[in-house]
Amino acid sequence: MTDTPTQKVALVTGSSRGLGRAIALKLAADGFDVAVHYGRSEAEAQKVADEIMGLGRRSEVFGADLGTPANAGRLVEEVIAAYGRLDVLVNNAGLTRDGLAIRMKDEDWDAVIATNLSSSFTACRAAIKHMMRARSGRIINIASVVGLMGNPGQANYVASKAGLIGLTKALAKEYGGRNITVNAVAPGFIASDMTAQLPESVQKGYLGSIPLGRFGAPEDVAALVAFLASPAAGYITGQTIGVDGGLYPH
Ligand code: NAP
Repeated sequence: MTDTPTQKVALVTGSSRGLGRAIALKLAADGFDVAVHYGRSEAEAQKVADEIMGLGRRSEVFGADLGTPANAGRLVEEVIAAYGRLDVLVNNAGLTRDGLAIRMKDEDWDAVIATNLSSSFTACRAAIKHMMRARSGRIINIASVVGLMGNPGQANYVASKAGLIGLTKALAKEYGGRNITVNAVAPGFIASDMTAQLPESVQKGYLGSIPLGRFGAPEDVAALVAFLASPAAGYITGQTIGVDGGLYPH
């Protein structure tokens, strides 16, 4: 039997850009080797991996289209095969296909649920099998404040994020006894490519309802994810923690 490598490993889905990139870099700065995942942005993903290697950590890029949930399970298995272990899984990849529910196409519903929710499930399932053998693991699901409070024009996205919060609670109860913690992070309005797509009027509307009076930065979310991945957070599981400037206290 080969020895398990001692260096801790994290996989961050959708770490080619935005929040995922910031999370990957922060985990690397905190001492993890990091598997960087991309869907389409291979060159950007390679830049993130290069930055991580610049921090003295191991990093490789893995491509997988998470619009097909089976690919997420395979991605996790590939990462475990490459690194020999997986300590932290961050399900961050996500997309929006906004529109009023009465006009929403089935394909837009299906794509958002498949990418944001079903792929997170298949990734969790593959990771937990491994983490059970290792008798430890951390899973952090990137949900959204709208999964808690609802939002017009985003029935598919809201349902996917509310589902992710439910999945988090169920898995926390199923695998707490195996020393695996599962938590969700619910970002509010964070400056990224995703939020840049929103009309200026919508962005201004949000700003008016944020008590801290500003949008968040990807690093604000990364700091919480890194805490949840750290030994200090070992007694926290099944939680959904907001990073939203006070937009939706719950
Ligand atoms: P972003 O800038 O649009 O980045 C999305 C990431 O997900 C990219 O790395 C992208 O990879 C990946 N991705 C999307 N569809 C994919 C697919 N089919 N297969 C594989 N990868 C896919 O978004 P972000 O703002 O950083 O958001 C990251 C997460 O935070 C999402 O789950 C989002 O719902 C959540 N969130 C964001 C905000 C916010 O204000 N920004 C607020 C609440 C929650 P490629 O580019 O390589 O395809």
